[in-house]
Amino acid sequence: MLIKDNIEHIEAELNGRAQIVAVTKTKPNEVLQEAYDAGCKCFGENKVQEMTAKYEELPKDIEWHMIGHLQSNKVKYMASFVNLIHSVDSSKLLAEINKQAAKNDRIIDCLLQVHIAEEETKFGLSENEVTEILDSSELRTLTNIRIKGLMGMATNTDSEQQVRKEFRGLKRFFESFQSRTNAQVTMKELSMGMSGDYLIAVEEGSTLVRVGSAIFGARN
Ligand SMILES: *Cc1c(COP(=O)(O)O)cnc(C)c1O
Repeated sequence: MLIKDNIEHIEAELNGRAQIVAVTKTKPNEVLQEAYDAGCKCFGENKVQEMTAKYEELPKDIEWHMIGHLQSNKVKYMASFVNLIHSVDSSKLLAEINKQAAKNDRIIDCLLQVHIAEEETKFGLSENEVTEILDSSELRTLTNIRIKGLMGMATNTDSEQQVRKEFRGLKRFFESFQSRTNAQVTMKELSMGMSGDYLIAVEEGSTLVRVGSAIFGARN
């Protein structure tokens, strides 16, 4: 199947309920260009160096989303152009994003990544840690970041029931912050769902689905 057909198929399934972040990690620029020509302007990458190299080569109206685990010392390389960081998992990282955003005279949008899976290996904050960050007085001083919502990855399992339960829990937690809008926080985006579970995620309230292999085929 062509990339264009895959994107159209997923768009039809989503039916306006969520936006696609096309996950382009490991894919060469020609493949990204093909997705771009098919109308896809929002790409997700999990490595800063790879994203920066692609940003330099490809059209400038692409939105670049960082979706992978991020080290503080790498933030500076993408601070001039990144549109949304899905994977903020510490207040230290948030402070560094704020510092680099300020240097670039920008405000950088962020999502807090919440650990919702049963696996130990996946990164993310606990619900308590999210609450602590949102309640902290330090957050008020970070005037060059905006927290736009939450991100989560479900357990990698065949159990639809398990995945649905995790997404539903994250949606409920997300909604509990809906009334807390302030200068640094507007809970608008809920990033959940990948190739294997985006339909469940959208049924449970996702606004951003991060889809790679269902568009581009398996990664090597
Ligand atoms: C790779 C990746 C995806 C996309 O995975 P697919 O199964 O190929 O759709 C989504 N989110 C994150 C954080 C990823 O690292």
